[in-house]
This record gives sequence, C-alpha cells and structure tokens, in this order.
Amino acid sequence: MNVPITEAQERMAVLGAMHVLDTESGPSLDRITSLAAFAFSAPVAFVSIVGEDRQRFISRIGLPVAETDIRVSICAHAITCNEVMVVPDLRQDPRFKHNPLVVASPHLLFYAGAPLIAKNGVAIGAVCIMDTKVREFSESERTQLSTLSQLVIGQLELRNMSGRLEPVSGIPNRHQFQIDYAGLAERNRGRRMFAVLVDVFDIPRANEAGQALGMRPLEVLIRRAGVRLKLALEGLADVYHVGVTRFAFLVDLPSAKEMEALANELRQRMSRPLMAAAVPMSPRFHAGICAVTLGEDTGDDVIRKVLIGLHESFEARQPFAWYSEQRDHHMQRGYRLAADAERGLRKDEFYLQYQPRYRAFDLQPVSAEALLRWTHPRLGPVSPGEFIPIFERTALMEAVTPWILDTALDQLVAWRDASHCLALSINLSGADLSSEDAWTRLRSMLEARRLPFDCIEIEITEGEWLRADSVAGRQIRAMAEAGIKIAIDDFGSGYSNFGYLSDLPIDTIKMDKSLIDDLETDLKAKTKVKAIINLARELGYHTVAEGVETPAQLSFLRDHGCDQIQGYLLSRPLNPDALLEVFSGKGTEEIEGSPPMTP
Ligand code: C2E
Ligand code: CA
Ligand code: CA
Repeated sequence: MNVPITEAQERMAVLGAMHVLDTESGPSLDRITSLAAFAFSAPVAFVSIVGEDRQRFISRIGLPVAETDIRVSICAHAITCNEVMVVPDLRQDPRFKHNPLVVASPHLLFYAGAPLIAKNGVAIGAVCIMDTKVREFSESERTQLSTLSQLVIGQLELRNMSGRLEPVSGIPNRHQFQIDYAGLAERNRGRRMFAVLVDVFDIPRANEAGQALGMRPLEVLIRRAGVRLKLALEGLADVYHVGVTRFAFLVDLPSAKEMEALANELRQRMSRPLMAAAVPMSPRFHAGICAVTLGEDTGDDVIRKVLIGLHESFEARQPFAWYSEQRDHHMQRGYRLAADAERGLRKDEFYLQYQPRYRAFDLQPVSAEALLRWTHPRLGPVSPGEFIPIFERTALMEAVTPWILDTALDQLVAWRDASHCLALSINLSGADLSSEDAWTRLRSMLEARRLPFDCIEIEITEGEWLRADSVAGRQIRAMAEAGIKIAIDDFGSGYSNFGYLSDLPIDTIKMDKSLIDDLETDLKAKTKVKAIINLARELGYHTVAEGVETPAQLSFLRDHGCDQIQGYLLSRPLNPDALLEVFSGKGTEEIEGSPPMTP
C-alpha cells in the first residue's frame, strides 16, 4: 500500500539525493550569488536550502548567519509559491514583522526569492536578495532572479552528477542507483517493484576480446549494449551501469509473469550481435531478478539480491533467475563460516576424527583417515562437506591445513607410542598442493616427529589441477618418491579417467560413495565398479571402496576383488581413543556378512 507523504518528506528525499543540505557551496555557486547582489544592487544575496527543521544558506553575501531555524525562514514560504515571491516591506507582513533579520541587525526590510525547483518539480530552496530598504521589484527583475535560480539548480545537479556517471557508457552508476533508490523508497514506502541486474558480456570473453581487439572496441560494445538496454526500457525504467558489464534497473510491473515476459523480450533484443572493431560480437544475456519492497529493502539489499539471482542464472545456465532466499541464506552462512574460521581454530572448535579402513579379505583394520570436524558455537556441528569448499575458495586452507597436519601427525605419534603402527590418510585439497613448498613443509613436519614417510597417505581428488606438469603434480611426485602413498579420492564421481593418472605416481583408487550406493540397485554401477577394480588391478593400483553401508555391498566388493573397505558398516569416524580400541582387535572378526558393528 502506498503511504501518503508530505511535501516536506518529498523535499527531504530530494535534498538527500542531491547531497545539498550538508555540503558547502563551492566557487561556482558563489559566483552566481555575487552576480545576484551586483545585478540587483542588493547588500544581501544568498542561496538557501530548506530542510525539515532548519534552512541553510549554502552560498551567501552580506548575511551574518549560515543557517536559521525553519520557523523563522522566509524562504520556507517562498518555496510554496511557484513563482518569485516578493515582500517589499517585511514589517508590513504579519508573517515576517517579528523575524530576527528584521527586528535585529542587519534590519532587513526587503525580500525577493525565486524557488529552486529540482528536475522532478520539488522545490528545495530559493535564490534570494534582501535589502535594508523598502523596494519595488519589476517584472523583468523577477524574470532575472528566476533565471538565476535555474542556473543554481543546474549547478547543483551538475555537481551532483560528477562521479555519478559511469565513464564508459555515460549512464548513471551504482552510486547514483543507491541515491535514486533511497529517494524512491522514501517517497513510496511499501510499494512493490522488481529489481533486475543484467549482465551483457561475460568477463572471460570480455578479457579475451580485450586482448584481441584492445579495450576501446570492448568499451564500445559495452556502451552499445547499455544504449540498447536503455532503448528497450524507454518509458519503463531508468538504467544504471553498476558493474563493468552489468546494468541494473527497477521496474513497476503488475506481476511476476509480466516481469518474466519483459526479461524474455530483453533477452531477444539484447542477444542480437553488435559490431565491435568490425567483428560482430554476441552480447550475452543473463539477468537476476528480485521483487523488492521499497523502504524495507535497502539499496545494498537490492543489489545483493539481484546479484544472487544473477549467479543463479549463470549456474543454472538460464537466461534469468529469481533471487532465492534459500540461496541467500546459504551464501550468508558460507560467509559467516569463512569469517569465523580463524577464530574457531584459535578457540579449539575444530577437531579430527579418524575413520578406519579395513582389508577386504579378513576385515582387519589397516589404516585410518583423518576427517575434520567443526563445532561452531552458534551453528553447532558443521559438515566439512560444507565448509571445506568455502575454505578452498578463500585463503583459509592455508591456515587450516597446517593445523590438520600438526594435529593428525601428533596423534599418529601418540598411537605409535602406544605401539600401534597404523598408517594415516590425510585429505589434501588442490589449494594445499598448489604451493611450491607443500612437500618441503610436510617433510619437515614428519622429520620433526621422526615419523617414517611411508606411514602417510595423501588423499586427493581428481581434477584439472592434478596434471603431472602442474605445481601439484610436481609436489605429488616428490612426495611419492620419498615414500608417501598417494590415493585418488572420490573416484568415479565425476569425469574419472585413468588416462592422466598413468602420468602420476598413484597407489590407490578410492571409489566414491555414490558408486557404492548404487551397487544394489543399478546394474550399471555394478559393471562400473567391476571395471574399475579390474582396470586398477591391471594398472597396479589398490582399490578402496568408501561409504560401504550394507553387507550386500561388502560382499559384492569382496567377491570382485576390491582391496580395502571403509564405511559405516564397519566403522564411523571415531575419536582417537575409540580408534585405538578398533586397532586393539576389539570385535572386527564378527562383521562378515553380518549387521554393522558400529560403536
Ligand atoms: P571424503 O574425503 O570423500 O570423506 C568421506 C566422507 O564420507 C566423510 O564425510 C565420511 O564421514 C563419510 N562417510 C564415510 N563412510 C560413510 C558411510 O558409510 N556412509 C555415509 N553416509 N558417509 C560415510 P565427512 O567427514 O563429512 O567429509 C566430507 C568431505 O569433506 C570429505 O569427503 C573431504 O572431501 C572433506 N574433508 C573432510 N576432512 C577433510 C580434511 O581434513 N581436509 C580436507 N582437505 N578435506 C576434508
Ligand atoms: Ca577422503
Ligand atoms: Ca567421497
């Protein structure tokens, strides 16, 4: 529902948007004020801005005060007229005869003021002259004063625009969007509108085009896309250039259906090729859309929400996507986790659990995998499946991995001191291995604890980063040469391929839980698992099945020669003491084909 607003509120919104209430005049305005004083031979001339409870003189000659209370403002009356207000003798006017400027120094008697009317028709102040004597004001003098007021408003708007236009397109920028949105929200509290963020060209392609053609054609392309969008939205919405390749607008449409129709239409219009340096280029079209409630959502919220929609549209490979609250929560939570991680490390919120791995033929435990745990003080236990990918995208792994290694290796020393020579698997991510001294650092950690290298296995997932000639590839080779075992984790979950593995010193293939899950129901999964086990054996790799939960899965894997088994059927991840019990031989034999023996 639209809430009616007063003239004063409207004026305040414009003043806020124009940033005039609290700024100083600057020389350009002072020149106009001097001109007024000179042209009208007046001892006093000024530009006043009328706020909610005070009026400010942002440029003045002959006036002893910089601001007054609104209750004694003569200009507050002038702005309610649409034309120049003239008071020949203030003493004769009951509204002004007690005014401090009249009854006390400088004892002004004459007033002429032309309202300053902003582009949207709202009067925000006045250009005035005053005199200590009673005067008349001719028609042509009124016209002159009103011309000066137009000059002043032009100056204010000009000053306001500098820094508010995106230089490439000449279209108002994000800063201006925020200002206009705030003004709009102030005047239309509670109104629902749609906000849209359009991306016209993807950055990698823009970079490619920039390298091939130089920046100028690229800028031309972006400018033209901006013009195209402006034309498409003419009369419907104002366009803002809010990011290198991104434009935003707010639009008032009756329903989401109409919004989607507009998005589809824009997509058609925007996707037609544009010429850049004689090469026809296809701008792309991706948009994030969000319904906003003016006054409830801040300008920052709006940009954030449409950005969330935009990224959803990239990921879903759809031309546009709506803002989703769920994704928003997910992002906020991710951000919170990233922000809290370092504190969590200091405050011992992280710990490791260890999941045993068993030899398939006799189900004896042979090693354990260290798995990271985090109990967040407010969010409770958070899965590493959630926080590790976030840490990997930030620089947090650099802090977390050394902690994992230190903790796990200390634990290994403690177990070995208790005369259990078990081997330990540690998960490392691409980021961990992509630094040139990954191996050197691990080696010194092992040496400091006098741990043999061959009691450690590193689990890594497959990926582009794993090429033999990459930094990670070189680190892995160095580790393997020293005797560290290397396992490929999550094998079979993505585009697994043995091809590139042959270039790397791999010992073990860990088949992903998703493959094992399907074993009982999906014939293809059976064939796939059999094929992986056989091929791995021929290539000299060991095989491990992870996530084994049922006796049927276990017997299938054993029947087909899988070397090792890990999963809830045999054991969940355990605390160090519980793990020690497993290795002390408590109850591993009864498992065979029988229900789980989890702690
Ligand atoms: P992952 O390396 O594939 O680890 C196996 C995950 O499956 C673990 O989840 C484990 O608790 C779980 N799991 C094992 N057996 C079963 C089973 O029978 N049923 C089910 N439903 N789950 C089973 P977790 O501990 O939540 O770890 C998730 C992922 O987080 C790990 O997947 C790994 O990619 C990552 N991660 C965990 N700890 C670390 C770490 O210390 N460093 C790094 N870089 N990544 C870690
Ligand atoms: Ca793993
Ligand atoms: Ca896995």
